[in-house]
Amino acid sequence: MKKTYSFSRGGFVFEDPYAPQSASTETAFLPVLSVISLIQHTGNKAYPIVFIGEYVKEGMLIGRGQGQGSANIHATVPGKVVRMVSWKTVDGTVNEALVIRMEGSFERLGKKEPAYPWIDLQLSELQHLIAEYGIVEMDEGERPVVDLFDDLATEKEAVTVVIRCVFDNAWFAADKAICNERLMAVVEGSLITAKACRATSIVYAVSYKEKQLIDNIRKTVQILHNLYPVNTPIAVVAVGNRYPQHNQRELELVLRDYEKKENALLGRLFMLCPSTASAIHDAVKFHKPILDRYVAIGGSAVKAPNVLKVRIGTRLRDVFEQCGGLIADPARIVIGSPFLGRTVLDLDEPVTKTSYAVLALLAKEIGGTVSRSCIGCGECRAVCPMGIDPESLYKQIISMPENPPSVDCHGCGCCEVVCPSRLPISTTIRAISKGAHT
Ligand code: SF4
Ligand code: SF4
Repeated sequence: MKKTYSFSRGGFVFEDPYAPQSASTETAFLPVLSVISLIQHTGNKAYPIVFIGEYVKEGMLIGRGQGQGSANIHATVPGKVVRMVSWKTVDGTVNEALVIRMEGSFERLGKKEPAYPWIDLQLSELQHLIAEYGIVEMDEGERPVVDLFDDLATEKEAVTVVIRCVFDNAWFAADKAICNERLMAVVEGSLITAKACRATSIVYAVSYKEKQLIDNIRKTVQILHNLYPVNTPIAVVAVGNRYPQHNQRELELVLRDYEKKENALLGRLFMLCPSTASAIHDAVKFHKPILDRYVAIGGSAVKAPNVLKVRIGTRLRDVFEQCGGLIADPARIVIGSPFLGRTVLDLDEPVTKTSYAVLALLAKEIGGTVSRSCIGCGECRAVCPMGIDPESLYKQIISMPENPPSVDCHGCGCCEVVCPSRLPISTTIRAISKGAHT
């Protein structure tokens, strides 16, 4: 590896003693009751197409996506649909889910599945399979992948698929695990994605510390290039480990730097995480929806943080139970990263396609509920990758909430994490920011 590319301004090395410390995984128990949310994407809830009392098979379509931003939903276990439940999320929206009581035999679990050749499929056929099996971005994005393809179709420029193997914080352990355990599916998934969006190249952006992974990606690319008559060039680019290197903006900065220095030719960057690439692989090659996903589970309230392979629909209380349980009542439960994650109110909320991390935090980890005053230390300015002065911006916003200034904050959360007074800086800025997000 010739060089490591890192963004130059701000950021910090983020370590979290309460995150799973390794990417070795365990498979979680199958839940007796699965809560299959009808909103596992950014748009409208999927329309339920099964009735209470009906028996469903593993992998069966049970909710039909409704328009842009909405994706199909599938049963992840066989059994009987026993009820519909709903709950209010922190932002006030109402989520609905079908509850399935597990019964009967599994169609797919533990069985060798037939592989369908994809190399001769047309672009529209590939996109149809990706839509049919409800594939969404499995990290913060949550948009259906076919919607992302639609965005690209409006552009005439070349496209480069970027697989983000950037582990700038331990909460991306799920993606790390999938790279360890299903790298062939990830790489083949990136080839399928490139074909499905007419990309002319693929880049693997990999944290420079992951030397074994960099090596393994190269070997896997070689195997697949020998196996399939595709000549999409694939480059592996080592990138820095400082948070928020994974962020779209910071990653684009370093890849453009790489393009310039290495005379590479990159098109518009189409970024996906490894979990999404492997889900695309499964949808196209095995006609399989997302039935389970790797989840990093931890936080100070969890006895034994771990990475589990969890069936979608497993309730958070069951997930924590398999990590030794909770040592005390958590002050906050988060799905996603500690910076950008979504607070959940109930341990009965389920794991969804996009739950890459689940955290149960004690009050001491979130600094209690009372914020203190700014001590003018300047830490927030030092870490802001956008060159913003978060301290004065925050003060402006709280003094004039009715007339907030326009800002170019992309919500990385660096300022809030380093603030010794635990002020909700980025949370407040994000609430008013119209800037680009990760
Ligand atoms: S959240 Fe916004 S203001 Fe805070 S560090 Fe990130 S870009 Fe800067
Ligand atoms: S990090 Fe917090 S305490 Fe320090 S200057 Fe910024 S807002 Fe004030």
